[in-house]
Amino acid sequence: MAINAPTGFNDMLPDQALFWNDFQATAARVFGRYGYVTIQTPIMEQTDLFVRGIGEATDVVSKEMFSAFSGANLETLLGGGTVKAKNRMSLRPEGTAGVVRAVVQHDLVPQGAAPAKLMYAGPMFRAERVQKGRLRQFHQVGVECLGAEAPTVDAEAIIMLMRFFAEVGIPADAMTLLINSMGCESCRPAYRDAVKAYMDEHASQLCETCLTRAEVNPLRAFDCKNEDCAAVMDGAPRITDHLCPDCKAHYAQVKELLDGAGVTYVEDSKLVRGLDYYTRTVFEVQVDNGLGSQNAIGGGGRYDKLAAEVGGRNTPGLGFALGYERCLLALQAAGVEMPKAGSCDLFVSVVESAGQAPAFALVQQVRDAGFSAEMDHQGRSVKSQFKLANKLGARFIVTLGPDELAAGQATLRNMETHEEVTIPFDQIASCL
Ligand code: AMP
Repeated sequence: MAINAPTGFNDMLPDQALFWNDFQATAARVFGRYGYVTIQTPIMEQTDLFVRGIGEATDVVSKEMFSAFSGANLETLLGGGTVKAKNRMSLRPEGTAGVVRAVVQHDLVPQGAAPAKLMYAGPMFRAERVQKGRLRQFHQVGVECLGAEAPTVDAEAIIMLMRFFAEVGIPADAMTLLINSMGCESCRPAYRDAVKAYMDEHASQLCETCLTRAEVNPLRAFDCKNEDCAAVMDGAPRITDHLCPDCKAHYAQVKELLDGAGVTYVEDSKLVRGLDYYTRTVFEVQVDNGLGSQNAIGGGGRYDKLAAEVGGRNTPGLGFALGYERCLLALQAAGVEMPKAGSCDLFVSVVESAGQAPAFALVQQVRDAGFSAEMDHQGRSVKSQFKLANKLGARFIVTLGPDELAAGQATLRNMETHEEVTIPFDQIASCL
């Protein structure tokens, strides 16, 4: 029986791989204007990094990580033994923890230094229930800015994210930008307690999961898809009414900067995002069409405590990640035409086998001149060579028959305009 790729792990076929490359190049170009440079961190990290960084109680860490053990460690584990923390590894479920770990490990933001502005692109892994727009291996492009807590960093990143979406072709009217502030360590605990107390009062109307959330991480109940829970949480205390003066001022400045830049947004005080590390600004971009319930194409926020959490000095940070596959779905829903992989400037067809060696030499010569060229490798008839040329989208076609070989020149046909010129073989490249 044929073996297929595991569920939720997709092949990136050539057209999609081409778009993924373009997507990353667009990100590097747009984010580069804002001073971001590329970093690449390993796809696997110590499990502890995610446990400490993202938070043990999050869905991502508690349920969705793919962990891996090498030979002897796996045997130990299966035999009921314990494996040292440094040998427990997981495929990264997101990019921030790894980048922050690298910043701390290599001291990329020494005291007094300008902020480190880093971007990354690559696969992430989460053992989620697979559905449209929700995969187990998916691809993200993300940025992290470490070393500055000013609201200009937050506003700049949000503006940059919206510019990126515009540049890849997602129509502005198809997107909604949601923003919120999650407060900081001085105002959030009291807010958490207020939400927990509210949930305790309404415990009889909440689902089992939310009852657990009330104990472990009450704010996660805002994300519950259960209708009864959503109705209860609609009446819950709002973080924006509980922000301390500093967080309130920070949030107000972010909004002012966005207003000044003409970026439209919707304030959503229920936007808490799934990960534990966020403080202050959080944001998410949703699309209305093509994605069903998995409608977030990107999101992020500020994480001023994360660097300290993974063992570094206190370093404020802010970042976002956006999902390549969901952007692709959003673009398809908006009817945007995708580029096609493969190009063919010239197809060289042959009439009989004597033409093959000269055709081989000609395609080589054209390729060396910097054009793409193709010929038949399967002994096709002239008619089916023409069909193949069409399928490849060849811009020009030239046919080498006995007369052409004898004369050392051939007729070059422009497939779009149908114009023809007869020229020596060695001048063909200059006419493409
Ligand atoms: P998150 O780290 O969950 O905030 O994800 C950031 C972005 O990555 C989301 O807005 C999605 O576009 C994308 N994303 C997250 N999880 C998945 C998934 N399982 N499959 C596909 N895309 C995802």
